[in-house]
Amino acid sequence: MTEQATTQQAVADPSGEVLLRVENVVKYFPLKSTRLFQRSHEAVHAVDGVSLEVRKGQTLGLVGETGCGKSTLARCIAKLYDVTSGKITFDGTDITRLSAHRMRPFRREIQMIFQDPYGSLNPRRRVGSIIGDPFAIHRTASGQERKRRVQHLMELVGLNPEHYNRFPAEFSGGQRQRIGVARALAFTPKLIICDEPVSALDVSIQAQILNLLSDLQRDLGLTYVFIAHDLSVVRHVSNRVAVMYLGKIAEEAAVEDMWHHPRHPYTDALLSAVPLPDPDHALQRERIILAGDVPSPINPPSGCRFHPRCPKARQDCVVTVPELAPRLGDGADHVAACHFPVEDGEDISLSKPAIAADQRVIESGLIAGT
Ligand code: SF4
Repeated sequence: MTEQATTQQAVADPSGEVLLRVENVVKYFPLKSTRLFQRSHEAVHAVDGVSLEVRKGQTLGLVGETGCGKSTLARCIAKLYDVTSGKITFDGTDITRLSAHRMRPFRREIQMIFQDPYGSLNPRRRVGSIIGDPFAIHRTASGQERKRRVQHLMELVGLNPEHYNRFPAEFSGGQRQRIGVARALAFTPKLIICDEPVSALDVSIQAQILNLLSDLQRDLGLTYVFIAHDLSVVRHVSNRVAVMYLGKIAEEAAVEDMWHHPRHPYTDALLSAVPLPDPDHALQRERIILAGDVPSPINPPSGCRFHPRCPKARQDCVVTVPELAPRLGDGADHVAACHFPVEDGEDISLSKPAIAADQRVIESGLIAGT
C-alpha cells in the first residue's frame, strides 16, 4: 500500500459487552438430484458449527480462502440466508428465526458493505438516490430532508456533497466504495459486515478505505465483522481474528497473538504467504506450500478437514475431529482446532505428513467415486 493504513487496533478488550453472538451455526445448501422424481440427500456444507462473539466497538476479522464459508456466514448474520441450525443473538435478542416483520428494526442496525463497488451500484441511478435508498425503503425521510441527510452522509465519508446528482460511472473505484459505505451508514447501524470491501480496489486506494472505516468506527462507535482473504489487511483493522477452513473455525485469537504465535498449520501457511516490506526478511522466510486443492464442501474429509493438505497430519487427524480449544498453554482467548499445534519458532515447511499420500488423496475426495 502506498499510503500507510493507520487503523491498527492491536488490543482486544475481552471485557467489552458482546453485541453479536453466533452459536453453533450450520448452513447447508441442499443439492438438486439429477434424476427425475428423486430427492438428493447431498448438500454443500458451507458453514458447519461455527461459534463466535463480537464485542461492541470492536472488529472481528474473518479470514480464509475462497469457498471457506466466510461470506455465507456473513449473510447468515445479516439474515440474508436462514440458518440450517444454530443461534444468532444480536444485542441481546435472538434473531435466528425472526419473521421479516419482526426483523425490520434490526435490518437498520445490521448493514453490509459489499466487495464490488462497481457491481453493487446501479449505473443508471444518481448517487444521491442510491445513498438515499434506506430512507426511502424505511420511509423515514423524503424531499429536501432526505437530500440534506444524504449530503451529510457524503461529507462523512469524504465525498463532495455537490456531486449528489452524478452517476456512479463519474466516480473512481475508491469513491464508489465510499458511496457503499455512506449507504450502509444511513441509520448509524450498530454492526457493519464488511465483505471483502477493499479486495477489488487498487492497493493505493485500499489504505484510504481502511483508514476511513477506522475513523468512522472511532467517531460513531461502530462494530465490524471484516471479511478478507488477506491476513495483512485484517491485521490493520481487527481486534480479533477468526480463520475459517472448509466451513469451520480453524483458529481464533487476538490479532497480534495470532500474528506472532499461530497454532493451526493452516494459519501458519496463510501467514507465510503475507508479503513482507523488508526484502531481507522476506528472503529468509520459508513459504509453506499446501498440497492439493481445497476439498469439496459436499463431502468434507473425515476427522480434521485440513488433514489432506496439512504438512503435520498424523493418523489421529484422519479419525478424530479436533476441538477448538487453547493449545500449548495459551489463554482461553486463543483457541485452535488442531491435535498437533505449531510450536513457537517451529518451521512446518520441514514437516513430513505421517499418513500415506494415497490416503490423503482419497480423504480429500480427489479420486472420483470416493
Ligand atoms: Fe494438521 Fe492434524 Fe492439526 Fe489437522 S489436526 S491441522 S491435520 S496436525
